[in-house]
Amino acid sequence: MLLDRRTFTAGSAALLSGCATVGTRHVSDCTPLAPVDADPSRLIRAVAGLRPYRRSGFVVRREQLGDKSLVHNYGHGGGGITLSWGSSKLATELGLPGHSGPVAVLGAGIMGLSTARLVQDAGFPVTIYTAALPPDTTSNIAGGQFHPFAVFRERFATPEFKAQFTRALDYSWRRFQIMVGDDYGIRWLPTYVETDSPEVKLLESFPPVNRMLRPAEHPFPLGSVLRYDTMYVETGRYLRQMLRDVQVAGGRIEVRKLATASDIAALPESLVFNCTGLGSRDLFGDQELQPVRGQLAILEPQPEVRYAYTGSSGYMFPRADGILLGGTFEYDVWDTTPEPATIQRIIAAHQRFFAQFRCRA
Ligand SMILES: Cc1cc2nc3c(=O)[nH]c(=O)nc-3n(C[C@H](O)[C@H](O)[C@H](O)COP(=O)(O)OP(=O)(O)OC[C@H]3O[C@@H](n4cnc5c(N)ncnc54)[C@H](O)[C@@H]3O)c2cc1C
Repeated sequence: MLLDRRTFTAGSAALLSGCATVGTRHVSDCTPLAPVDADPSRLIRAVAGLRPYRRSGFVVRREQLGDKSLVHNYGHGGGGITLSWGSSKLATELGLPGHSGPVAVLGAGIMGLSTARLVQDAGFPVTIYTAALPPDTTSNIAGGQFHPFAVFRERFATPEFKAQFTRALDYSWRRFQIMVGDDYGIRWLPTYVETDSPEVKLLESFPPVNRMLRPAEHPFPLGSVLRYDTMYVETGRYLRQMLRDVQVAGGRIEVRKLATASDIAALPESLVFNCTGLGSRDLFGDQELQPVRGQLAILEPQPEVRYAYTGSSGYMFPRADGILLGGTFEYDVWDTTPEPATIQRIIAAHQRFFAQFRCRA
């Protein structure tokens, strides 16, 4: 199923296909942008990843496991990059007060690495126990838009969870801002959305800008376009740097899969943070946790494309390591092999869309 990152409005697809192309002409009622050249020959790789989704939202909770304190931090669905710092902050606030001695972190995706850094910042030695390291994590596959998309379903979320969600989002929003730059691969971009209403304000300052555009303010062949601004994380570069940060601060890394609770009980540390993402389903028997597969077509980079787009053709996030085209949300699909037919469909939908720009830079 190809979906945009919001619920798209009825009739938007018809609008898209019924619009006349003005080609490369600059017209006075149109602000040009560089279109993506979504020719299939520009495909450099295709990937599929599994979002660790729980309809009632992520789990940040402390429990006792024999003589160990165990703090969970998993299940962030399609928003784990966005929520990483804030959710990990909540987890460390539950685990660290009153603790002394070394700390174990399970998992080396974005949640494990962020948790490890916060534990180190608080002055504790850390060992990360993990089945896989970057680049072989779900976090590496993520598009990296700062937006907590597909994290929970409203009707299943408790008020307690929603309070955690807002606190996590707020901390992450501020933390990522102070990391913007080439070293971590984070940058601000305007994001254009095919929709007829602004984003819901999740924080007082998020998302900024957030206004409907007049047709003269964009080149898209659409009747109704929103612009908001947010940050984009080049996840490969970011996770490489985070792993280095953990090691430079003295963190140990042990590559091993923990299969059962008794494996955890045998660890030398008395405080353990569980950041195993989808792995928590088997390790802790959380049956609410399910995969939501996303497939991405990645095209050769185009540095001149300095905006993101989401709409009925899917989404486009431009990064230094490639133009990401995506937008599939496939519930309960465990296979991480991208399907050639789906990848071709994603590219074709974007090719049609970008060919219809009313004017171009
Ligand atoms: C296609 C796609 C696009 C996405 N786009 C975005 C986006 O734009 N913005 C956004 O915010 N989020 C996005 N996400 C969601 C985001 O990728 C996830 O929410 C996030 O990566 C989850 O991070 P994590 O650290 O919990 O899990 P993971 O990255 O999966 O890391 C889990 C770690 O735990 C280890 N592990 C698992 N089981 C065990 C075990 N039994 N023993 C030891 N170690 C174990 C793994 O080896 C791994 O190191 C996207 C996801 C996908 C698939």
